[in-house]
Amino acid sequence: MRDETSHELQVALRCVIEASRVCQRVRTEMVERAAVTKADRSPVTVADFASQAVICRMLSEAFPGDTIVAEETSAELKDPANAWLLSRATGFVRLSFPEASEELVCRWIDKGTRETAPRYWCLDPIDGTKGFLRGDQYAVALALVMDGKAILGALACPGLPMDLDRPGAPVGVIFYAQRGKGAFQIATGEASAVPIRVSQEGLGSGIRFCESVEPGHADQERHRTVALRLGIAKPSIRMDSQAKYGIVARGDASIYLRLPSPVSPDYREKVWDHAAGVVIVEEAGGKVTDTLGRPLNFGLGPRLTENKGVVATSGHIHEQVLAALEGS
Ligand code: AMP
Ligand code: MG
Repeated sequence: MRDETSHELQVALRCVIEASRVCQRVRTEMVERAAVTKADRSPVTVADFASQAVICRMLSEAFPGDTIVAEETSAELKDPANAWLLSRATGFVRLSFPEASEELVCRWIDKGTRETAPRYWCLDPIDGTKGFLRGDQYAVALALVMDGKAILGALACPGLPMDLDRPGAPVGVIFYAQRGKGAFQIATGEASAVPIRVSQEGLGSGIRFCESVEPGHADQERHRTVALRLGIAKPSIRMDSQAKYGIVARGDASIYLRLPSPVSPDYREKVWDHAAGVVIVEEAGGKVTDTLGRPLNFGLGPRLTENKGVVATSGHIHEQVLAALEGS
């Protein structure tokens, strides 16, 4: 099975595995002192910067001509008030690349841009930074986009249990997919990948839906209304990051709802929050659109400017879920 993987996929998997190793080190060693607040008031941590530096370094070595669209820039690191942040981030990057200096770390981070290209790598070095800081779920998310479509996705979820219903189950999962070649998961420390499929269950009281932990990132009240209309009796699974796409892809949840929050109705989703997850769910047999049923267009810059909200499902129930949104 691994023999069929492309060079791109092998590199992408190495990138997310290496970066998530760095993130886990940051998490165990210094999470309380790891964060600063960005201009948009969202948090960013030593791990976001270290993860982006490591992945941009690896990607640009393997594919020197490729564009990388990534969440972070070195701007915060260069602020003299944040000298400690640069120094700590560099220390963690050295675990992977002993030659790393503060200057090199900034240069590697800035290999990431905000301009999309016909072919580009789409990186969220830590998706779900708030979850990372809370000790909940986060993901390292990397996708390859061609002509506006995600064609490869690799998603490391270091804190995700292999079995959601067994609290003591081992944690740490990598999801991946290539367009046309199916979706897979690998448990941390295991060598072999296992194919994954979405749930085959029809709508009804037995199915589960998932949503963000953060009430400001979506319209959770409307999610509840839609769930009731669909006959869903179980409470939602609230989870940070694209780990939600992973649990839809392997059938733990049938629906991931992300309807625009009433607090920020004009918010347009960012490409790096979705690209990897979309290809994984679709290759597992599911479907992902915006709230109006349109496919997500990743070719228009760093935001999904033509889309509103996101709905991911196990596929066969997608039209029913979209219908339940109308007038909700
Ligand atoms: P989640 O853990 O699913 O809430 O996803 C985290 C992502 O939500 C972050 O990476 C942010 O880019 C994104 N985000 C921030 N503000 C909003 C918002 N108002 N609506 C939707 N997503 C947001
Ligand atoms: Mg993110």
